[in-house]
Amino acid sequence: MSARILSGKEFATKIKEAAKEDALAFRDEYGFMPGLAVIIIGEDSASQVYVRNKNKACEELGFHSEMIALPADTSKDELLSRIDALNADKKISGILVQLPLPKALQPFEYDVLNRIDPMKDVDGFHPVNVGRLVTGQESLVPCTPAGCVRMLELADIPIDGANAVIIGRSNIVGKPMMSLLLKKSATVTVCHSHTKNLAEICRNADVLVAAIGKPLFVKADMVKPGATVIDVGINRIEPKKLVGDVDYDSVKEVAGAITPVPGGVGLLTIAMLMANTVKAAKLQAGRI
Ligand code: NDP
Repeated sequence: MSARILSGKEFATKIKEAAKEDALAFRDEYGFMPGLAVIIIGEDSASQVYVRNKNKACEELGFHSEMIALPADTSKDELLSRIDALNADKKISGILVQLPLPKALQPFEYDVLNRIDPMKDVDGFHPVNVGRLVTGQESLVPCTPAGCVRMLELADIPIDGANAVIIGRSNIVGKPMMSLLLKKSATVTVCHSHTKNLAEICRNADVLVAAIGKPLFVKADMVKPGATVIDVGINRIEPKKLVGDVDYDSVKEVAGAITPVPGGVGLLTIAMLMANTVKAAKLQAGRI
């Protein structure tokens, strides 16, 4: 039997509708819509697409949005002073610096991310937010894992007591996913490139999350029949063809539910960014 397809569009729409409702209630109380500022440095073409999509989502929901495009040779000091100005700007509820940074700025990635006011850190990468998430406190949570977990809840897929296996331990996806699923009382295993018996561990998962960055890595024989498979990977294998980290065609015959690529987790990520922007506005207003 073929798996239930977890459509990113369906769940992203629900997340965005809730964010819009929240934003309108915020505007009624405080007189302005939440605002998102995105800083993009350099010409990376994938980043440009992501930033355009973020801008579009702001327009769709009626949020204030500012895109700050800086040349690839922008200095660290110039970038930090742009962030300082946004930190002080009342119209801006959330600030995001699009990654990856150009090569010359990469050694300063933590300086850049740590400069963002934690209450405006809609990517949830600031150590204050990371610490709050790990200790179970209210925080701004990285959009991709937060969107995946929100989707599981909206889709009524049980997390409490489930065996969750995450392949990937990045700061952006794997680790925050671990904290979120643990907070929801899953039993969580995090795998990486040194993991032994990966296939065997994966076959034990009720919820399997693939965040590896390797096209079609997860095969049907790594999946427990009926499991929920979340494919975070985005891999371009031909100029116009994107695939995930999961071998979708074979795995959907074994899994109970699966996210497609494209049309899955990517849409949830942007929807969650909108939700985080409203949450940031409420945090700054002392409402959370
Ligand atoms: P990283 O490259 O930072 O992390 C990849 C992880 O996969 C690492 O922990 C690595 O292990 C692990 N890994 C690599 N090879 C293997 C292997 N053979 N067996 C087991 N584990 C392995 O990637 P990200 O977390 O940033 O992104 C993962 C994927 O998700 C990418 O395709 C990215 O494009 C996509 N992505 C999608 C988003 C969306 O909105 N849909 C948002 C963010 C990312 P180790 O630590 O040992 O090196």
